[in-house]
Amino acid sequence: MSIQHIAVIGAGTMGNAIAQICALAGINVALLDVSDEALEKGVATLTANLERQVRKESISPKDKQDALARISPGTDYAVLSAAGLVIEAATENLELKKRILKQIDSVVSDHCIIATNTSSLSITELAAVVTQPSRFIGLHFFNPVPLMALVEVIRGIQTSDVTHALAIKLAEHIGKSAVTVRNSPGFVVNRILCPMINEAIFVLQEGLACAKDIDTGMQLGCNHPIGPLALADLIGLDTMLAIMESFHQGFDDPKYRPPQLLKEMVAAGYLGRKSGRGFYIYQ
Ligand code: NAD
Repeated sequence: MSIQHIAVIGAGTMGNAIAQICALAGINVALLDVSDEALEKGVATLTANLERQVRKESISPKDKQDALARISPGTDYAVLSAAGLVIEAATENLELKKRILKQIDSVVSDHCIIATNTSSLSITELAAVVTQPSRFIGLHFFNPVPLMALVEVIRGIQTSDVTHALAIKLAEHIGKSAVTVRNSPGFVVNRILCPMINEAIFVLQEGLACAKDIDTGMQLGCNHPIGPLALADLIGLDTMLAIMESFHQGFDDPKYRPPQLLKEMVAAGYLGRKSGRGFYIYQ
């Protein structure tokens, strides 16, 4: 694996976990966010996750220390000049991501690959923002990143074979299984998964059953490991709303419209686990 230095943009739910698994795989990671507060929260989360892994004896205390030593949190994009790969994992918003990508593009070296962890936005459209779109690709990790084996690798129409091969190599190096997917809103897994979660929110909104019974129904009736509403809380309700809006717009099909209840909850700041309240209350 030739990439020794990477950068992850965004230290939220996904970014801090991507930094964690890459650091555990021996890669130096610059972890960037907009504020020291966001970085402190991200580092606290990944440290707690590493400690949990030590308790479960899946890693040693030294592995944890080494991984933490490889992660450099910061807010200054200048450090990206040393990166062989930058993974953008900031908030799911097209205009914000385009702004961030331009900022990344202005600093990185010519041989750097730029990847995005977007759940639903067009890789082709995002690639068009950078100077070398052939070196741009989608690397879609799944939540919770340390536990989920899959990475979807999404090629925009501009993505080169070399970039694609490097992305697959990185995924394998950090212990993930990669599937290659053509660019389309939500790619493959979220295209199937998110409308199911969206429908569960409609079911709750219509009062057909309470949240717990909807989730129990899907767990015991379909053998899902987690109910759709608990999964929405894990994903983040703002991210869920952004995904469904992107589907609705991208496919121009009303079957993807987000329920009013989801919009109301996001407007209220009920974002799921990350805010302490979603369909359930978290300590
Ligand atoms: P999040 O809300 O938990 O974290 C987003 C982070 O981005 C925050 O820490 C925020 O401060 C930071 N950010 C915002 N603007 C920034 C900027 N200009 N520069 C640097 N950082 C900035 O969101 P998340 O769930 O981690 O999602 C991040 C990306 O990963 C999104 O594109 C999302 O669609 C995708 N994704 C999410 C999941 C999931 O289950 N949550 C799964 C796969 C992919």
